[in-house]
Amino acid sequence: MRVLVDLNRCLSYGQCVFAAPSVFRFHGAESLEYDYAPADALRDQVREAAAACPVQAITFSPGDHA
Ligand code: SF4
Repeated sequence: MRVLVDLNRCLSYGQCVFAAPSVFRFHGAESLEYDYAPADALRDQVREAAAACPVQAITFSPGDHA
Protein backbone atom coordinates (compact mmCIF):
# COMPACT_ATOMS: atom_id res chain seq x y z
CA MET A 1 0.00 0.00 0.00
CA ARG A 2 0.96 3.62 -0.39
CA VAL A 3 0.87 6.32 2.26
CA LEU A 4 1.05 10.04 1.78
CA VAL A 5 1.20 12.63 4.54
CA ASP A 6 0.56 16.25 3.76
CA LEU A 7 3.39 17.67 5.84
CA ASN A 8 2.07 21.18 5.32
CA ARG A 9 -1.00 20.15 7.28
CA CYS A 10 0.74 17.98 9.82
CA LEU A 11 1.00 19.72 13.16
CA SER A 12 3.06 16.97 14.75
CA TYR A 13 0.35 15.83 17.09
CA GLY A 14 1.80 12.35 16.98
CA GLN A 15 -1.50 10.49 16.88
CA CYS A 16 -0.31 8.56 13.85
CA VAL A 17 2.90 7.54 15.59
CA PHE A 18 0.82 6.22 18.44
CA ALA A 19 -1.56 4.35 16.14
CA ALA A 20 1.02 2.90 13.77
CA PRO A 21 4.50 3.11 15.27
CA SER A 22 6.06 0.90 12.64
CA VAL A 23 4.94 3.26 9.87
CA PHE A 24 5.20 6.73 11.41
CA ARG A 25 7.95 8.12 13.60
CA PHE A 26 9.40 11.42 14.60
CA HIS A 27 12.83 12.40 13.44
CA GLY A 28 13.95 14.98 15.91
CA ALA A 29 11.43 16.94 17.89
CA GLU A 30 8.74 17.74 15.34
CA SER A 31 9.76 16.31 12.00
CA LEU A 32 7.56 13.42 10.95
CA GLU A 33 9.04 10.55 9.00
CA TYR A 34 7.05 7.69 7.60
CA ASP A 35 7.16 4.63 5.44
CA TYR A 36 5.79 5.53 1.99
CA ALA A 37 5.04 1.94 1.06
CA PRO A 38 4.30 -0.13 4.14
CA ALA A 39 3.36 -3.78 3.97
CA ASP A 40 -0.30 -4.51 3.40
CA ALA A 41 -0.38 -6.22 6.77
CA LEU A 42 -0.13 -2.75 8.29
CA ARG A 43 -3.25 -1.51 6.54
CA ASP A 44 -5.42 -1.53 9.66
CA GLN A 45 -2.82 0.42 11.57
CA VAL A 46 -2.53 2.96 8.78
CA ARG A 47 -6.30 3.28 8.62
CA GLU A 48 -6.39 3.92 12.36
CA ALA A 49 -3.62 6.47 12.06
CA ALA A 50 -5.44 8.30 9.28
CA ALA A 51 -8.62 8.33 11.33
CA ALA A 52 -6.77 9.56 14.40
CA CYS A 53 -4.99 12.44 12.69
CA PRO A 54 -6.71 15.62 13.89
CA VAL A 55 -5.96 17.51 10.69
CA GLN A 56 -6.67 14.70 8.19
CA ALA A 57 -3.14 14.92 6.83
CA ILE A 58 -2.84 11.21 6.07
CA THR A 59 -4.12 9.65 2.88
CA PHE A 60 -3.46 6.16 1.64
CA SER A 61 -4.25 3.87 -1.20
CA PRO A 62 -4.68 0.22 -0.43
CA GLY A 63 -3.32 -1.22 -3.65
CA ASP A 64 -0.11 -3.24 -3.68
CA HIS A 65 1.48 -1.24 -6.45
CA ALA A 66 -0.61 1.90 -6.60
S1 SF4 B 1 -1.42 12.51 13.44
FE1 SF4 B 1 -1.48 13.93 11.71
S2 SF4 B 1 -0.82 15.88 12.54
FE2 SF4 B 1 -0.21 14.29 13.96
S3 SF4 B 1 1.89 13.77 13.45
FE3 SF4 B 1 0.54 12.35 12.37
S4 SF4 B 1 0.17 13.29 10.35
FE4 SF4 B 1 0.96 14.86 11.72
